[in-house]
Amino acid sequence: MIMKNGIVYFVGAGPGDPGLLTIKGKQALEEADVVLYDRLANPKLLEFASPDCRFIYCGKLPDRHFMKQRDINALLVEKAAQGLTVVRLKGGDPSVFGRVGEEAEALHEHGIRYEMVPGITSGIAAPLYAGIPVTHRDFASSFAMITAHDKSLKGTPNLDWEGLARGVQTLVFYMGVKNLSYICQQLITYGKSPSAPVIVVQWGTWGRQRSVKGTLENIQQKVQEHQITNPAIIVIGDIVNFQTHSWFESKPLIGQHLMVVTHGEDEDPLADKLRASGADVIEWPKWRTERMPANEEILRKIGTFEDIFFTSRRAVCEFFQALASKKVDIRQLTARLSAASEHAETELEKRGFLISAPQPVSEKTLVVGSRHSVKDTQKHKSCSFYMTHENVIDDRFTHMIQRTISESPLHMIICPSKSSVQQLISTGEQIGILPEPSANHPPIVCIGDDTAASAYGFTAVQELDELFAFIQNQQAEKKLVHS
Ligand code: SAH
Repeated sequence: MIMKNGIVYFVGAGPGDPGLLTIKGKQALEEADVVLYDRLANPKLLEFASPDCRFIYCGKLPDRHFMKQRDINALLVEKAAQGLTVVRLKGGDPSVFGRVGEEAEALHEHGIRYEMVPGITSGIAAPLYAGIPVTHRDFASSFAMITAHDKSLKGTPNLDWEGLARGVQTLVFYMGVKNLSYICQQLITYGKSPSAPVIVVQWGTWGRQRSVKGTLENIQQKVQEHQITNPAIIVIGDIVNFQTHSWFESKPLIGQHLMVVTHGEDEDPLADKLRASGADVIEWPKWRTERMPANEEILRKIGTFEDIFFTSRRAVCEFFQALASKKVDIRQLTARLSAASEHAETELEKRGFLISAPQPVSEKTLVVGSRHSVKDTQKHKSCSFYMTHENVIDDRFTHMIQRTISESPLHMIICPSKSSVQQLISTGEQIGILPEPSANHPPIVCIGDDTAASAYGFTAVQELDELFAFIQNQQAEKKLVHS
């Protein structure tokens, strides 16, 4: 059999929290030419892929099969046979109810190389984020991972219920919400106490995680009351009583699904701060950087400028990259250097430069930045401009963002700057958000832009603390309405 040069990496995406990807998984994504990803893999992980990488969604939608297993197998074979590096990104761990065996077999039959990168499975991670370890010296020395759904007509698996009820202390069921009452009934029939504790954890490790606790006897009713649906993990065993609280579900912004509108220049730390406080955050739009050809005319006379002003961190990186590629020695730079953001200043400091305060613009000033930011500063006609790159919207992410929003409605849209407000106004319609005051959309909050706020009916806040207080207020009001 002839071995082809293409390769497939089966990568476990982890349960949802994007931080729960392995380093090896990240490396595989960075190298990929094509990524085939499932519904439960967090699309944020695709940001690790290169700008030329193609994304193919193979998710099964809740009501219909989106792509048949044999079509997925065929696609993996086809892409790898073309010599491409393919990542098959699967939710949790690829080997836990992930059909990795079937896919690997198809590759093997066609002589295609593959490697497996394990991931963190939801059956362990979801309980842990809910405050429950699956083993404990005092309560549970064994645990089992069980599918509560199978290929049979009724979908109820033919398990050794007696063995499970008597022999294993912590039972972890995947794909079980629809068959929950059947599971509970079988366990009671085969010897478990009706008062055995149960917890159901939905969307474990995502900001939208929710959990409900009960017993074999009453959990079905509680799950219905709280409208818990798949994806969810069911944990049954004494260990559930050990839980006092979920460290994760106690975070201040848990349950919030927020969108942060980006504007293409340096990454805004806001999304990460919101995530660290427990929210599910989508950043939109996603941007791609397109490098501009080096402007040799300016580079040649770089020593003649008295001031160089950088509009972003990326501008710093791209500018020094251009100097290096054109073999211009940085010792020619005698200008004072200043920058528009802290990120950009840090990037200059890393290169050994001291930063000056921005100086008044003169003919001896060079402004370095993206096409967009340079355009913004072009009103100062007297100075020179150096365009390093252009930020363009990365359309590969648009579909998945639309899908995420339709699956889990947004609670709020946040514009962290004036330019992101402009971004939302000009392109919001692409993802179904019309920022008109009369349109139906979640609350829109902008930081530090009172003018746009009053023109469009957005809420304006001045700083981060005020934003957090506003989100929590909205959350509290919603809880009141529901209680
Ligand atoms: N390979 C995956 C499981 C795939 S089967 C893993 O290792 O996690 C799909 C089932 O996994 C879902 O029906 C649900 O029971 C469970 N699941 C996946 N992600 C989940 C999550 N974030 N929270 C709770 N359950 C999850």
